[in-house]
Amino acid sequence: MFQPPDPVRFQEILDDIVDRMRFETERGAAASYIPELADVSLNRCGIAVAPLGGPVLSSGDSAVPFSIQSISKIFSLVLALGHVGAALWQRVGREPSGDPFNSIVQLEFERGKPRNPFINPGAIVVSDIITLKSREAAENHPVLQLCQDLADDHTIYVNENVFQSEVATGDRNRALAYFMLAEGNIECDVRQVTESYFRQCSIEMSCQQLALATRFLAAGGNDKGASRFGVTPERARRINSLMMTCGCYDASGEVAFRVGLPCKSGVGGGIVAIVPGIASLAAWSPGLDEKGNSVLALRAIEELTRRLGWSVF
Ligand code: GLU
Repeated sequence: MFQPPDPVRFQEILDDIVDRMRFETERGAAASYIPELADVSLNRCGIAVAPLGGPVLSSGDSAVPFSIQSISKIFSLVLALGHVGAALWQRVGREPSGDPFNSIVQLEFERGKPRNPFINPGAIVVSDIITLKSREAAENHPVLQLCQDLADDHTIYVNENVFQSEVATGDRNRALAYFMLAEGNIECDVRQVTESYFRQCSIEMSCQQLALATRFLAAGGNDKGASRFGVTPERARRINSLMMTCGCYDASGEVAFRVGLPCKSGVGGGIVAIVPGIASLAAWSPGLDEKGNSVLALRAIEELTRRLGWSVF
């Protein structure tokens, strides 16, 4: 059984990792497709750990909200599974894609059934399900509401400027959605579905909030907040499996090799990692590698898990 280091030692390790990241010269490049992401300083770096049954520990820019982007695909998947259960898998696969997250080629070969819920077309089908089920929608976007509930923090918000920029630059995602509509895999209005998807991508959270909001996955479904959304132990295990195999774009194999944990990244520079039975981690630094994963967030998670011996293997 893993014994966590005492909190003082744990804090030293986190501070040491963030200090080392400050001096890294290879920091990647911020996403450039919208100004709100392009303009974030590459010097930003934060990390937070939410251990089961303990307070959050963190270091660096861990309280600064950033654009969660694709990390929102975890939360939308939880909602869609809560709505339709295993029927989801008739419309979305469970295989890694090995292609970029917004590839159209594979979708055409596979007749409009996306490989998995963590690439864009898969997340758009998930948004279609959420849109259909939340017609009489509450004032809040359902994914935002879920993030707020899981983190028990109602200050979490959607950045409207990011949302407007996503809508303005979202032709490729609309193209994916129209293609799936033509193949009979989208039921709602494409604009409504893609706007729901863009809105969830535009949620901002800090590392501390993200670690808290994803802790239910470390708890293996034994989490009161998440069980209200239908997250059973089996469902939590399956979401973790998908994160391990598909969570980091077409570098998911490489991340599994380096970190050995279920992870999900986003082009805002955030990465979440789950240590089943122990803790959830979130790290953030805006500079990305060529696959779209944050260079320093990944390095920070790799370093922390190596030092603590955290891995599912
Ligand atoms: N919002 C962007 C898109 O859907 C990026 C999502 C991401 O991969 O983080 O194209």
